[in-house]
Amino acid sequence: MENNQLTHNEIACKNCGAKLIFKPGTQHLTCEFCGTYNEIQIDYSKVKEAHEERDLVSFLKNKQDVSQEYTIQTIDCKACGAKTSVSANTVSDNCSFCGSPFENVQAHEIRLIKPQALLPFNIQSKEGHESFKKWIDKLWWAPNDLKKYARMSEKLQGVYIPYWTFDADTSSSYSGARGEHYYESESYTDNNGNKQTRQVQKTRWYNVSGRVSRFFDDVLVMASNSLPAKYADNLEPWDLNNLIPYDPKFMSGFRSEAYQVDLEAGLGISKEKMDVVIRQDIRMDIGGDEQRIYTVNTAHKEITFKHILLPIWISAYRYREKVYRFMINGRNGKVSGERPYSWIKITLAVLAGMAAAGAIYYFSEMQQ
Ligand SMILES: [Zn+2]
Ligand SMILES: [Zn+2]
Repeated sequence: MENNQLTHNEIACKNCGAKLIFKPGTQHLTCEFCGTYNEIQIDYSKVKEAHEERDLVSFLKNKQDVSQEYTIQTIDCKACGAKTSVSANTVSDNCSFCGSPFENVQAHEIRLIKPQALLPFNIQSKEGHESFKKWIDKLWWAPNDLKKYARMSEKLQGVYIPYWTFDADTSSSYSGARGEHYYESESYTDNNGNKQTRQVQKTRWYNVSGRVSRFFDDVLVMASNSLPAKYADNLEPWDLNNLIPYDPKFMSGFRSEAYQVDLEAGLGISKEKMDVVIRQDIRMDIGGDEQRIYTVNTAHKEITFKHILLPIWISAYRYREKVYRFMINGRNGKVSGERPYSWIKITLAVLAGMAAAGAIYYFSEMQQ
């Protein structure tokens, strides 16, 4: 049984004993004091284990299996509830998620399911800054002076965020109705009192039932409540094929968050995500011009999961006295987050659209 606890020996310079910090994009810890390279040995015979799917049913049955758990030190943020795990070499002064100071907060131990794999940070904070600037430059419907005045108000904080991934073989029986369009002539009286006829679209409904099936691979569920899911989901896709076995050395100098969405809750969210896709499959299967779905019964078989950590840079910027939070995919620099809109630009665009529609109406009337 390997030792899960992070010890100082693991991240101390082999030459001078100084504390080491992982440098994104590399596979070593460079000593800032003596310059010695401390190579992180990845056990490639174990890389397969990083991708190994765990059977959910047997895992839940053997919940007391302590070999699957580990103990970590966490700090609970009083303001936002985030559970930040603090490894050695991490300065913990502010919450990465809401910026609140950690004053008089004691770290305490919790036991959790141990992550089996992670993606190490690939881009450094400097590259993260550049990604942020490019993102600000390209935002649609943003105020003109945003570029000029958007200022990062906090440092980029590198945090390993917990995720679940689920696989499942699904089969769904459904009942619903297929709508087919047809046209009928209808007579009406126009404004001048003349009788006219026009074609009206109608829909004829046929009851249908059937079955669709689909295999889902690596449905990602963020196990953190501290980042808004709608922004975090935008950071996808992740290069999950590059997962490596969990190794705290890659986390030296970074923070990580303890999961707040547990395995069962994560499974529930993954089923909702699968259901969206299954309903699209059902609509395709029903065919016709319109579809109605009355009931769906899905059997999820051979559910497997992985618990992994993904690298995200988190920060905030300030624009006109307001703070906007954003995040960056620590692998490829993709940015997602809160942003201001220029309501003047949007209003002008809507008015222009209405004017164009009005013009089309005007000219089509002229043709008659
Ligand atoms: Zn050294
Ligand atoms: Zn917080």
